Amino acid sequence: MQLIDGKSLAKKVQDNVAKEVEELKQVKNIVPGLAVLLIGDDPASHAYVKMKAKACEKVGFYSITHNMPETISQDEIIATIEMMNANPRIDGILVQLPLPKHIDTDRILEVIDPKKDVDGFHAYNVGRLVTGLDSFVACTPLGVMKMFEEYEIDLQGKDVCVVGASNIVGKPMASLLLNANATVTVTHIFTKDLKAHTSAADIVVVGVGVPGLIKEDMVKEGAIVIDIGINRIEDGSLVGDVDFKNVAPKCSYITPVPGGVGPMTIAMLLSNTLKSAKKRV
Ligand code: NAD
Repeated sequence: MQLIDGKSLAKKVQDNVAKEVEELKQVKNIVPGLAVLLIGDDPASHAYVKMKAKACEKVGFYSITHNMPETISQDEIIATIEMMNANPRIDGILVQLPLPKHIDTDRILEVIDPKKDVDGFHAYNVGRLVTGLDSFVACTPLGVMKMFEEYEIDLQGKDVCVVGASNIVGKPMASLLLNANATVTVTHIFTKDLKAHTSAADIVVVGVGVPGLIKEDMVKEGAIVIDIGINRIEDGSLVGDVDFKNVAPKCSYITPVPGGVGPMTIAMLLSNTLKSAKKRV
């Protein structure tokens, strides 16, 4: 069994981004810029945004966080996004989810200029991803693809079971895998027999938010298991969606939680923002 070390790979990606930022500054006098909209008081969202701002600083980006109260109106959020769309110093706009209940998330995400949609959530980018065109791709599934590339895991013709079908994790993950010529099965809460699908797969990619959902008898010998789940359990520790202790011995490769997919998400956000900055005219 080999551990897929997301922490080291994320550092490698970030170091490369920092190097390219330096070149971009020297050659074209461009400093990539990321704007983050943070709405409300959710502690997890605040923690994620803090980590993103720190990462931006480390690679030499310009970054701003718009901190807005829970009670803010949809129109005010839209006005801020439009201001960022028009700001030439900003290459990427990220709206930290989830949004308060009175805000229409789909509406908000569609206001972001697709050229600055570094989270890859805009329908324009989702459509381009599905059709196999160059696009901004959601950072978490993009990070998983980077892991496959780094560990030289060939996806062509492989049976891959994706567990979880959200717009930000499971669906873009399935599209990326399909584009890489894997045979993809997407499962979710209404799947009749989850074990039948996971245990037949060469690769299982799980992102559902249920601690320990994937058990030892649900994966085949030699499987590759990618755990996207991040769950804080009663004792305060972070665990994934895979019963790591019992599943790991059966795997050829597996990602740990923490230190697996998590760090890759921020690394890919930086990489997407750099990609956008390079397209400045
Ligand atoms: P979500 O609630 O939007 O979607 C969950 C998906 O899992 C749904 O499709 C649902 O049908 C499915 N599901 C739920 N329970 C299931 C079950 N018992 N069996 C099969 N399918 C089930 O969640 P999300 O935003 O996609 O996040 C999923 C997990 O991934 C969470 O733990 C989240 O914290 C984590 N996550 C991690 C990162 C990262 O950077 N590593 C990024 C985003 C999300």
